Amino acid sequence: MISFLDLAKINNRFRSEIDARFARILDKGWYLQGDENESFAKHFAEYCGTKYAIGVANGLDALNLIIRASGFGPGDEIIVPANTYIATILAISENGCTPVLVEPDIHTYNIDPDKIEAAITPKTKAIMVVHLYGQAVQMQKVWDVAKKYGLKVFEDCAQAHGAFYQGKRVGNLSDAGAFSFYPGKNLGCMGDGGAVVTNDEELYKKVKALANYGSDRKYHHIYKGTNSRLDELQAAVLDVKLPHLDADNARRREIAAFYRKNITNPKIILPETYSEDAAVWHVFAVRTEERDRFQKYLTDNGVQTIIHYPTPPHKQGAYAEWNDRSYPIAEEIHRTIISLPMSPVLTDDEVAEVVRIVNEYK
Ligand SMILES: *Cc1c(COP(=O)(O)O)cnc(C)c1O
Repeated sequence: MISFLDLAKINNRFRSEIDARFARILDKGWYLQGDENESFAKHFAEYCGTKYAIGVANGLDALNLIIRASGFGPGDEIIVPANTYIATILAISENGCTPVLVEPDIHTYNIDPDKIEAAITPKTKAIMVVHLYGQAVQMQKVWDVAKKYGLKVFEDCAQAHGAFYQGKRVGNLSDAGAFSFYPGKNLGCMGDGGAVVTNDEELYKKVKALANYGSDRKYHHIYKGTNSRLDELQAAVLDVKLPHLDADNARRREIAAFYRKNITNPKIILPETYSEDAAVWHVFAVRTEERDRFQKYLTDNGVQTIIHYPTPPHKQGAYAEWNDRSYPIAEEIHRTIISLPMSPVLTDDEVAEVVRIVNEYK
């Protein structure tokens, strides 16, 4: 079986370094908000090109804290793509804000920047873009419309660590970026983890305090905060892996280029990219009419696949109030999409084998 994502193989490349860091933590007996967090936050901000980074408990909390620290709540609307992992939308709901869904572009699968303006109302406060499947949103039109209406812009970077737009990395393209380090992400830890990055000092301080019981110093609480911390073990894993992220992303690009050049089956629609450095190929999502038949064929031939995602957020039980709505482009993507194996540890032979099997599909 060619596995979709072999996490043991990915992390075992760094086994001795991770072992050494864990031993250091055991020796010190310091598990939260210590040197590992400080080191990783510094390195991750440098990597993204932002002034600040804060480790938090997971990607959903990172999104949540950005919205909360910006002071948005009930009565406020936030624009978000209809085609995303549900976490982006849940973070808006959790703050009592209203998510306003905007259709994606059928070619990039990201929010269609030309459709944002029509969704703006006097209640709109922010645009939350998602760099889906690892491709940076083409931000220029997003910035233009945000500027015209005085809106904040935020990024969900959970699938796009290291992707570029106009020479800057995601996370550094807006007021604040949210990252997830869920194990399967391009930069993943060994449990849950997340980060907020920003150039805004005030936002940075507020997120940092909110994530730590609303406390700006010990036993001094200025907000009704929460507990959302990245623990020292996870920060250590991330600090070990971060220097290898660009090489891993380069390998993903190599595999994506091979797939795009060699998959010639007319039944398969390949993903498009507008610039090489814009995409870090978190997943390699293709589309095909009889998606479920294609998936069964691949499984029968030893190729593991995953569907990102089978049901759009507006058709989920969690958003029953939206179930009658129609977002035809988002629905078309969810109906036809399927992700082929993609990871930095796939071998050339495995990639060639996937291509052969996909091309033989009838
Ligand atoms: C993974 C993911 C999240 C949530 O991250 P968690 O760390 O699992 O909370 C949010 N948005 C997108 C687009 C994701 O892929």
